[in-house]
Amino acid sequence: MQAAKQENTTLLDVSDLKMYFPIRKGFLQNVVGHVKAVDDVNFSLCCGETLGLVGESGCGKTTVGRCLIRAYQPTGGVIQYRNESDQTVDLAQLPESILKPYRRELRMIFQDPYASLNPRMTVLDIVGEPLVVHKLARGKELEDRVAVILRKVGLRPEYMRRYPHAFSGGQRQRIGIARALALDPRVVICDEAVSALDVSVQAQILNLLLDLQAEFNLTYLFISHDLSVVEYIANRVAVMYVGKLVEIAPTTKLFSAPRHPYTEALLSAVPKPDPRLRGNRIILEGDVADPANPPSGCYFHPRCRYAKDVCKVEQPSLREIGEKHSVACHFAEELSLSGMP
Ligand code: SF4
Repeated sequence: MQAAKQENTTLLDVSDLKMYFPIRKGFLQNVVGHVKAVDDVNFSLCCGETLGLVGESGCGKTTVGRCLIRAYQPTGGVIQYRNESDQTVDLAQLPESILKPYRRELRMIFQDPYASLNPRMTVLDIVGEPLVVHKLARGKELEDRVAVILRKVGLRPEYMRRYPHAFSGGQRQRIGIARALALDPRVVICDEAVSALDVSVQAQILNLLLDLQAEFNLTYLFISHDLSVVEYIANRVAVMYVGKLVEIAPTTKLFSAPRHPYTEALLSAVPKPDPRLRGNRIILEGDVADPANPPSGCYFHPRCRYAKDVCKVEQPSLREIGEKHSVACHFAEELSLSGMP
């Protein structure tokens, strides 16, 4: 089911990705502005790694994922993808008519296992649909392939003629994972894939994702607002704030020694079992900035406790400050920030 391992090969290289949604008003629906959901985002994904993408709700994480699978046509930027034939294509610019093979190679697992499965379709129909659409199997062969995939995700093939309502939340998410894996993808975008599940079930699904990654050399973009989940599964973490990446680093480095004040605040909000550490939580003042009308300078400055005058006028760019560690803060080298103990 899977290609040979090619660690350190860059599969996806995203540069200056932009996704602006027009704001329309009036009888004629004239465009009066734009919501900059994703604004100049840069990152890469290596073969077989997991990149966590974190931030508060509405920061643009899901929009990034949807741009990668071309559910949205990006407003600008480049998504360089190394395909199975080792050729590099720009997914951001490919015309719709030739996107089909890439929709096989890049798949998405959605957040809500209740809403993302059609209640009128059996498990066989749901998991087999991508194989039918891509004309890869039908009839008995389709059933055999669906049975193999169901076993891989820990479900019994005898259940393939049941409907989603007959399954628990965790089992439904396994069906969602089976659907994503049906086409033997190379990159899987997990969009809040365990957020709707109970904690004990979350652990099972995370372990399943890790097992499948090891077996099939999958590359994950793991989108989540839950940092403890991301710490468990990701090799590197990228932090987003109002459509921009503000920090990206290997997981252990980002959690132990963050260099952006927003990352520090997010880490301080992670629940801690030790009651002596609970008092260190940083309460962010004010609301998340409006992506249709962001503040001048650093978007985080109205909420940043380290902000200085320059932060109000000059927007910091994402720059490398250490090995595989990039930060968008004027004072990244000077601030002494707290990480997770
Ligand atoms: Fe805070 Fe200034 Fe750094 Fe922005 S640039 S995160 S406002 S210190």
